[in-house]
Amino acid sequence: MTETLIFELGASGRTSSPLPDCDVPARPLKEIIPAGLLRKKPPGLPEAGEAEVARHFTRLSSLNYGVDTGFYPLGSCTMKYNPKINEYAARLPGFARLHPYQAEDQVQGALRLMYETQRYLAEITGMDEFTLQPAAGAHGEFAGLLMIKAYHDHRGETGRRRVVVPDSSHGTNPATAALCGMEVQQVRSGRDGTVDLEALKDALGPGTAAVMLTNPNTLGLFEREITKIAEAVHRAGALLYCDGANMNAILGISRPGDMGFDVIHLNLHKTFSTPHGGGGPGSGPVGVKSGLAPFLPSPAVGFDPAGGRYYLDYDRPLSIGKVRSFYGNFGVVVRAYAYIRAVGGEGLRQVGEDAVINANYLLSLIRGTYRVPFDRRCMHEFVVSPPAGFKEAGLHTVDIAKRLMDYGYHPPTVYFPLIVEEALMVEPTETESRSTLDAFAGALLEIAREGFENPQLLREAPRRTPVSRLDEVVAARKPVLRWRPPAAEE
Ligand SMILES: *Cc1c(COP(=O)(O)O)cnc(C)c1O
Repeated sequence: MTETLIFELGASGRTSSPLPDCDVPARPLKEIIPAGLLRKKPPGLPEAGEAEVARHFTRLSSLNYGVDTGFYPLGSCTMKYNPKINEYAARLPGFARLHPYQAEDQVQGALRLMYETQRYLAEITGMDEFTLQPAAGAHGEFAGLLMIKAYHDHRGETGRRRVVVPDSSHGTNPATAALCGMEVQQVRSGRDGTVDLEALKDALGPGTAAVMLTNPNTLGLFEREITKIAEAVHRAGALLYCDGANMNAILGISRPGDMGFDVIHLNLHKTFSTPHGGGGPGSGPVGVKSGLAPFLPSPAVGFDPAGGRYYLDYDRPLSIGKVRSFYGNFGVVVRAYAYIRAVGGEGLRQVGEDAVINANYLLSLIRGTYRVPFDRRCMHEFVVSPPAGFKEAGLHTVDIAKRLMDYGYHPPTVYFPLIVEEALMVEPTETESRSTLDAFAGALLEIAREGFENPQLLREAPRRTPVSRLDEVVAARKPVLRWRPPAAEE
């Protein structure tokens, strides 16, 4: 099925907006535009009535799938529902219309909001200081590793240029390390899916700058030996970096700072109520222990209790400098602030508990049909493989993912983490009701049955979407990004 394009709508001579008559003397185009640049034929622009145009674009807008239209269990992405009240807060003119060059005494409210958000995030993560500058998770990793590099260099340990990552790590971790000019060293996971402490110890040495970990890890498993890991990393003179993009599971329950992490980034656009997924603005604040605080990006937002004033502190000689224009994506910080204030400390803990309960409940409904490679209590998400027998029937994870679209769901994350064969990574989040989880599990079980009875149905899915299966290689290498009139009419 192909989509109707705006170019194919309407008919010659149809129009939406009659233009007024020209009230200046008309000059022939030939006198204004050099002959060589003039078109030989009219350009063939769409000619459609206003109602046709309005319906066309409204229909297109409804083709988007979002968390406001349905369940979106995209593992590691925390596609939870974002309360609309936080959008309202971010749009308040006093925030939305500020100019970044306004004088400090005119923006005390905004500075206070930033300062307090830094303090809340420090309290939530067990860190000492925060910066709100980085614009995304990967950007936070970048700022964090630059600080770690600056820290080692400042101590004269300029040889520390290696970053250790587990083989289950999010792709941004090794990519960030490489971008910072570091050498990446991968360590394999143990048989239970968590870090193999002995393998990690072997990897540590005088050249190690940092170990980057995610806890809970990308399999949704809590690293139970985290304090021993931290001890080993610190004994080797290295620092422990926490990829805190997925804080949802441990909010209000445990704190990376207490586990021994030295640096953490958070994704406000995952955990703290900013819609994401369309490439819109994000925010990846970074928290550090006090030893790293001098290296934080400049300016920092400070508070002078004697004068009762908030201020921007540019006087930071060891700072890694700016990582973003001005002060970061302020509107995202407003949403996070409103969210944290509305939910409160107890509420944050409940978010963590509900995220974990929802994931475990959903897993319990499909366990037995879908294979669970590392079967223990999961945290905010879990990873399964297709039912036994699917492979023999020539069916793959991608077929399950595509078929889920026919049931009206966004597919889970697929083929990640790489250490699980045919991975399906499901993160339901705390904002979903039991009936949604029941219905989704029902679809997964139904698809398992379909796979055995009518595998072709899965191979040809999706059928209820505007386009069915794309050749993903062609789509990536030779994307069709513009409409061309049929050759005969050109
Ligand atoms: C989402 C995510 C990131 C990257 O965050 P971006 O904002 O997309 O750059 C890093 N690590 C993990 C574990 C993530 O889930």
